[in-house]
Amino acid sequence: MSSEGKFKPKMLGIICNWCCYGGADLCGVSRFQYPTYIRLIRVMCSGRVDLKHILLAFANGVDGMFVGGCHINDCHYNPEGNYDAMSMVSLCKKLLEHIGINPKRLRLEWVSAGEGIRFANIMNEFSREIEHLGPLGKSEGLDADELKKRIESMAKLIPYIKLAKMKKLALHNIDEDYTKLYTSDEIDSLISEAPSYWIDPDRCQACMTCARRCPVEAIISAKNQVHVIDQDKCIRCGTCLSACPPKFGAVTRIVGEPLPPPLPEGKRTIVRKGKEKAGESPSPAG
Ligand code: SF4
Ligand code: SF4
Repeated sequence: MSSEGKFKPKMLGIICNWCCYGGADLCGVSRFQYPTYIRLIRVMCSGRVDLKHILLAFANGVDGMFVGGCHINDCHYNPEGNYDAMSMVSLCKKLLEHIGINPKRLRLEWVSAGEGIRFANIMNEFSREIEHLGPLGKSEGLDADELKKRIESMAKLIPYIKLAKMKKLALHNIDEDYTKLYTSDEIDSLISEAPSYWIDPDRCQACMTCARRCPVEAIISAKNQVHVIDQDKCIRCGTCLSACPPKFGAVTRIVGEPLPPPLPEGKRTIVRKGKEKAGESPSPAG
């Protein structure tokens, strides 16, 4: 095949300052060759790389993504960030698999500052693999719109996934096989059981307790107004469910069903019938 028609992937590497970046630098100084279409971003530690960064890169059309850090037990920070990177990448591969993206498009490697040749070899091998896979979505049989939709809906679940997998994400154990830390079944049920929280307008008393406790200000709150959860901001932590006083019981956890539509803005004022007729519960106007 002529080099003119050859697919040139978009590839991104996020690499740590102390080791992998040093390896990349030595690779350049030593004039070892690797494809120029690989772009590198330097971060202080591979443990700084988040699920969100990787999904964002794929959402922006990256065909292959590389995370590089110091060899295990060589991390410059305490606790060692490369364990966090291992767990995060392992989880991310399963998330990619869940939405139909080939997990081979994401790769994690350790490179020391003295391993310029190793850096070049990894880049060459990985770029060949991505060239072989082709553009993101093509080998997966997904068109651009479907791909974007799947990545965006997974990105919305990231805070929930990180909360649910907090312990595994923080695991630092040299004896653990991180490639087997998460199973496909585990991720499938985690996603299918993702809860949503909804405030019943007929029960909400606008006491504001939930809005004060919500860690991300996802509850639209105003005095004497039925409270409404902004589903785009909600991280599904469940705090509002436990915060709502039992005598009101206005927050519901919903799994696997569509949420009732939110009450329109103009119909959220609570008419406190209870003040006029004892024994009746208040309800929103409308
Ligand atoms: S589930 Fe958590 S993030 Fe969502 S509205 Fe309730 S308190 Fe806020
Ligand atoms: S805590 Fe319950 S009753 Fe109070 S504002 Fe929130 S949902 Fe409404």
